[in-house]
Amino acid sequence: MASTNPPDWPQDGLHVAIVGAGITGVNLALGLLARNVSFTVYERAPGFREIGAGIGFSPNAERAMGLLNPDVLAAFKRAANPNGEDYFQWIDGYRSDELIFKLYVGKDGFQGGLRSEILEAWAQLLPPGAVRFNKEIDTISAPPEDNSSSSSSNRRLRLHFKDGTTATADAVIGCDGIRSRVRQLLFPTSSSSSSQSPEAGYTAKFCFRALAPMPAAMAALGQSRSMTRFMYNGPGAHIITYPVASNTLLNILAVISDPSPTWRAHPQRQQHTAPGSRSEAEAAFRDWHPTARRIVGLLPDAMDKWAIFDMAARPAPRYIGTAAAATAAAGDGEGWGDRVCVAGDAAHAAGPHLGAGGGMGIEDALVLSELLAAVDGKVTGGGTGDGGDEREREKGRWVSAALEAYNAVLYERTQGVVRATREACDLFQWKDPAVATDPRQFGDRITALFHSVWEYDVAGMVEEALAELE
Ligand SMILES: Cc1cc2nc3c(=O)[nH]c(=O)nc-3n(C[C@H](O)[C@H](O)[C@H](O)COP(=O)(O)OP(=O)(O)OC[C@H]3O[C@@H](n4cnc5c(N)ncnc54)[C@H](O)[C@@H]3O)c2cc1C
Repeated sequence: MASTNPPDWPQDGLHVAIVGAGITGVNLALGLLARNVSFTVYERAPGFREIGAGIGFSPNAERAMGLLNPDVLAAFKRAANPNGEDYFQWIDGYRSDELIFKLYVGKDGFQGGLRSEILEAWAQLLPPGAVRFNKEIDTISAPPEDNSSSSSSNRRLRLHFKDGTTATADAVIGCDGIRSRVRQLLFPTSSSSSSQSPEAGYTAKFCFRALAPMPAAMAALGQSRSMTRFMYNGPGAHIITYPVASNTLLNILAVISDPSPTWRAHPQRQQHTAPGSRSEAEAAFRDWHPTARRIVGLLPDAMDKWAIFDMAARPAPRYIGTAAAATAAAGDGEGWGDRVCVAGDAAHAAGPHLGAGGGMGIEDALVLSELLAAVDGKVTGGGTGDGGDEREREKGRWVSAALEAYNAVLYERTQGVVRATREACDLFQWKDPAVATDPRQFGDRITALFHSVWEYDVAGMVEEALAELE
């Protein structure tokens, strides 16, 4: 079987396999790069792939980028659009078109940009060959212990790809998104403590995402509503707009509550999209204030609609597997689940309503980079036994301890964000109109939700994780 391991990776230090080259996987790669830890990214797509829509990063995400790798933060800032005003501003989009509440995001905080441009800017920081494309992970195994072997690499995990090739690594980090294959391998139905394995479910919300040319947006909305971020709230729906691509495009996200709790995926499409149209959006916003309707009028005639899934109902019980569960799933060989974890959406997919999912993946990447660098220092420093198989076993124990520390520090934080995101959507969509339209009540609640994400001690989180490892 052909192996895809690069020729130059260390045989005695740590080698990390990252599955998935989205925001989380690329940031983890850049964190490991900055710490001189050997890694390879395996991505099923033929190239870097982000859709042509906007994304914004919260203040905690920016702090995590800076600690992860200062080049990551600098690249994001170069690709980001300047803020017209450093505020989130919520408008009553249904009745009055008047401001309900505004929240300061910090100087040049929460800037947005085009996803494709930001991912591309980060990808350019990676060395050639760091990402192996067209590599879709199928399964993972670990060879049975072979005491007769003199090879010190025989305990490494083996990744099996759909194309029949394999690769080996000391740790596997599944950054493979909301439908994560790595998560399925870690938590097969039979080994889950509940009867249901962790899975993303439909939140009964779908959205339209579009980029309108700025001249058209200005003509419809005027300069002040086009050149900075606004949110339009109302019953059963909300809209977010912000400028991207050096103020040449207005990013529009219109989120609509679906009366049906079941998403009917289009048979020829990926699971989360279906063909949609502006007329469907117009029907949802028919009774809204003319400003909101003019925004909907900027959407193209035909476009995809995107289902919003999250993992609130069926969360992962942990982000690291157990050796035993994975062994049972594999049927033979040694246990490996305690050297494998999930990160980013694979671990804790949330809806978009707090603009926090990508930032959570970057926090994960920061903690994992620091922990794996600490392990690399221990195993390449000669302090882990007398070499050979014992050294490899000890390396495995350190990897497992590092992933446990990651789980211990980030599990509650990220699960809390998944739940808070749902609460934010209820406020935007007037689940309780008396609260949602009262500036004081809405302001207090929404401030608390956003600040729970933003005002997080990212540096303290890293220190806590490293202390946990020791
Ligand atoms: C409408 C919307 C708006 C959002 N806005 C924001 C925002 O403003 N700010 C924010 O922080 N977050 C936002 N988010 C959330 C954010 O987009 C996600 O949290 C983030 O993109 C997740 O990145 P990821 O790398 O974890 O996963 P993904 O982006 O899903 O990447 C996973 C990668 O793994 C690859 N892969 C999958 N399976 C395999 C396999 N078996 N083998 C190999 N490779 C595989 C995929 O091809 C993909 O490249 C938003 C989400 C939505 C839906």
